[in-house]
Amino acid sequence: MRRALSVHTRLTLWYAGALLAILVFISGLSYWLLARSLAQDVDRSLVTLAQVVRDAPRGDGFEEAEWWVRELLDPEHQLFQLLGPDGRLRSRSWRLRDDRLPLSAEGRQRVVAGQATFETVLLHGERIRVVALPVLRNGRLIEVVQVGMPLAPTERTLQRWLEALLVLVPLGVGLAAAGGRVMARAALRPVDEMSQSARRIDAEALGRRITIRGTGDELDRLAETLNGMLARLENTFGEMRRFSADAAHELRTPLTALKGTLEVALRAERSGAEYRAALASALEEVDRLVRLAEDLLLLSRATAGPDSPRARVELETLVLDVAEVGTRLAKDRGVTVRVGTLAPLAVLGDGSALRRAVLNLVENGVKYTPAGGRVELSVTAADGEAVLAVEDTGSGIDAADVIRIFEPFVRLDSARSRESGGSGLGLAIARSIVVAHRGILGVERPAAGGSRFTIRLPLA
Ligand code: ADP
Repeated sequence: MRRALSVHTRLTLWYAGALLAILVFISGLSYWLLARSLAQDVDRSLVTLAQVVRDAPRGDGFEEAEWWVRELLDPEHQLFQLLGPDGRLRSRSWRLRDDRLPLSAEGRQRVVAGQATFETVLLHGERIRVVALPVLRNGRLIEVVQVGMPLAPTERTLQRWLEALLVLVPLGVGLAAAGGRVMARAALRPVDEMSQSARRIDAEALGRRITIRGTGDELDRLAETLNGMLARLENTFGEMRRFSADAAHELRTPLTALKGTLEVALRAERSGAEYRAALASALEEVDRLVRLAEDLLLLSRATAGPDSPRARVELETLVLDVAEVGTRLAKDRGVTVRVGTLAPLAVLGDGSALRRAVLNLVENGVKYTPAGGRVELSVTAADGEAVLAVEDTGSGIDAADVIRIFEPFVRLDSARSRESGGSGLGLAIARSIVVAHRGILGVERPAAGGSRFTIRLPLA
């Protein structure tokens, strides 16, 4: 498989590519500007020369004019001739010898019309720029001065500029790419170091952290974010470990009791009644194990979030239904379950999971309220949320335990809870269900005593 390019190589390539494009554009522009300005210089010089030839004192004839021009110009520029108005050659400079500077038909037309005309012509394979300047007297064309200038020097200058660009541009791009590569490497080195130290962190060493360099830049912020994530992972791993240990412990207690009962029963020959008693006790422990397994399953499902699609759940119906179940549970204990204010509110979610959560609260209310007490359910609206409350007149919860009770396997009064058969998972399950519905499960201690559990849920 082809290996992907490293970030610094890609950065360097992008950078060099962009620079090359810019330099090519600037070079092209500079070449074009230079060529234009050289051409303008040539044309300007040609006009000046033509004027010199036109205005040179003629004296006895062309020789004197030529002498003047020769005095003024270097030999290379001594290409000029005079034409009559009919286009016939009158005289030419010595350097032209037997040659003639050509003039195209259109050029001639324009000259006749009194306009100076520029043309580029070939003379013995040499490119020459020629100006034809009409000489008018009283508005009549009496003569045409033609002056030529070889384009070779300007072409040489342009050629040299092009050669310089062909060397300088690749050299500049090469140097910039090398420098850019060094800079990109240096800038990305901390990322490399960070990924190396992140690689050393695994599930066994989640306590390790990525070193923060203290520069306060983006990379430090990234390291802080990763460290924050590691802290949360460490926390979650810790919770999971504690949870597994607690779960194992919870399983071991009924299993040990079951084993003891069976061992005692087997140790000697027993009567039928004794065997029945042993089996009944064993069944009780098995019941506890089944309940525990069911609760564990419920908790893991609730933590994973609702598995059925979210539907509209009428809280009124839900509360009346749970109250009915609660009444049945409470009958033998001498506790009354009743329904208080019932606002007709609805939330979105998994109806059976929410019913489970409320039922757990009612079961607790009934469990931890002595005979003669009561458990009251209500639904009200507050701050745009539905508040479902389960209030009891029971033992209440100490302020110090308010947070703890929502953790799995926490029972405040183990003797009492064991007797009532609670696994310590009821509130943890309720909280997971409520959190999965983007709600909050809380507990308050009413002034009159007992406890008041509230489920706050966003309205549908
Ligand atoms: P359990 O299975 O023991 O009821 P829960 O998670 O439902 O487990 O509750 C945790 C602990 O919180 C209980 O053991 C109990 O000590 C305390 N608790 C829960 N609900 C109430 C309540 N309504 N009144 C007093 N204590 C409560």
